Amino acid sequence: MTTLAQPLTAAPVDPLADAHAQLASAVELLGYDDGMFALLVRPRREVTVAVPLRRDDGQIEVLVGHRVQHNLSRGPAKGGLRFSPDVSLDEVRALAMWMTWKCALLDVPYGGAKGGVRIDPKLYSLAELERVTRRYTSEISPLIGPERDIPAPDVGTDERTMAWLMDTYSVQHGHTVLGVTTGKPLSLGGSRGRATATSQGVVHVALAALRERGIEPGRATAAVQGFGKVGRHAARFLARAGLRVLAVSDQYGAVAAEAGLDLAALEAHVDAHGTVVGFPGGDAIDRDAVLELPTDLLVPAAVEGAIHAGNAHRVRARVVVEGANGPTTREADEILEAQGTLVVPDILANAGGVIVSYFEWVQANQAYWWSADDVESRLEERMLQAWRQVLDHSRHLGVPLRTAATAMAVERVAQAHLQRGLYP
Ligand code: NAD
Repeated sequence: MTTLAQPLTAAPVDPLADAHAQLASAVELLGYDDGMFALLVRPRREVTVAVPLRRDDGQIEVLVGHRVQHNLSRGPAKGGLRFSPDVSLDEVRALAMWMTWKCALLDVPYGGAKGGVRIDPKLYSLAELERVTRRYTSEISPLIGPERDIPAPDVGTDERTMAWLMDTYSVQHGHTVLGVTTGKPLSLGGSRGRATATSQGVVHVALAALRERGIEPGRATAAVQGFGKVGRHAARFLARAGLRVLAVSDQYGAVAAEAGLDLAALEAHVDAHGTVVGFPGGDAIDRDAVLELPTDLLVPAAVEGAIHAGNAHRVRARVVVEGANGPTTREADEILEAQGTLVVPDILANAGGVIVSYFEWVQANQAYWWSADDVESRLEERMLQAWRQVLDHSRHLGVPLRTAATAMAVERVAQAHLQRGLYP
């Protein structure tokens, strides 16, 4: 596997400033006062913890972790756990706020949260990552639980991380608590369809968005940035839906094929080498060139700020569907809007993960498991219903999809605040 060290982010970005600006414009659109803005802009709770780690060679290293609960007004907090060298408290705050809007928009009964540990997981052994996960879980355990805050996988974490988290929390509580996390392995109370849910959801709305622009998916082309848990399955499902996936990238580089990539062969290459780089079935291209190809569809599924003021005017895709959280900066949003690019925002496009996380939590709390068909059909129904609602709202208000989606979500959260009243 390649060990090339490359920065994960494409450019300096400030996701928290973008999240605040989105909230401010939603509050203004909805006619709420400054008090409501103040209630919604601040995280309800946040904790920063030291995560001491004994390395395999005996050295002690102290990592930093965060958990931010942005809002709890509609139910327990929900949000992923990220292991990345780019993690910062402000990034976690922005991601937690977006989780609040996503859960409200999709009408799942959760608030929003996010967690992160500042670590490059590729540089640590499995045993070290297990110790990091267990110590971090232990440090944040007073805050989490099935009725408080339910973590899930995100960048740099996976179902194995969730199994360690669930086990640590359960050992501390003296009994098995399956509902403390979602995205667990199937054998430990995971849900069928969770591992691919985010990507399935991305593809459901991508196909709808292409049709909205009069593009028949069977004749369309796509590029996907990021080949991790979201990008990889999204590319496969797009190809299955008849699109030609012309290019994909990961943090190390990108590959392209005019006739469309053979995704099964590419996945086998990535499993063997840990990167798309060196795939013999395509040409190597510049990593960030995937964002600028003349495709019908672009799915950024990697990091925040991938499409920014410096490259947005070179994005030629007609439809951008945000698999990642916050991949388009505020300035880039305006440039894409002016270019006539249809941008399906993250809080709608990648909500499939939290929908099936909700299904997993429901199943775990009832100890009753649904079939894969049940999960998939309910996921599709919820994604397409939300897509239609956001599209209608955006037409009604004459605003971009992101503005419409954020306004719908903020209104639901604000209503919960107003109905609950202010304690004391
Ligand atoms: P992951 O760690 O599984 O994969 C990330 C991928 O992005 C890797 O292939 C990595 O090499 C690549 N990458 C990193 N920097 C890059 C760059 N500059 N250019 C190109 N590729 C780059 O993470 P994931 O779970 O797939 O998450 C990706 C995005 O989707 C994140 O924004 C995450 O918050 C969001 N998301 C994930 C889920 C989920 O269920 N996993 C749900 C909703 C949203």
